[in-house]
Amino acid sequence: MKEWIEDNLAEVIIATASLLLIVCFVLTAIASHKEDERLWNNGYCECDGKWVYVDSVTQISKSSDTVRTYTTYIYRCDRCGRMHEFDELR
Ligand SMILES: [Zn+2]
Repeated sequence: MKEWIEDNLAEVIIATASLLLIVCFVLTAIASHKEDERLWNNGYCECDGKWVYVDSVTQISKSSDTVRTYTTYIYRCDRCGRMHEFDELR
């Protein structure tokens, strides 16, 4: 086992690093979704203003052979003017 690790050290490091990256990405996604949920507050901003749909933004990320699109939805509070990008259409 120890020899195998020594022989494949580079691969082990890359595999561990990618795993950590995936875990970080998933945790960030969950955290931002919870933050969205809290901010959305059934359609009302912290100031009691109403979230109003403004626009959607589609981002395209290209990696070696796949093209992914990711859409966020921008809402603006009609009272304090605060804007927030939600990750789903509300
Ligand atoms: Zn507000």
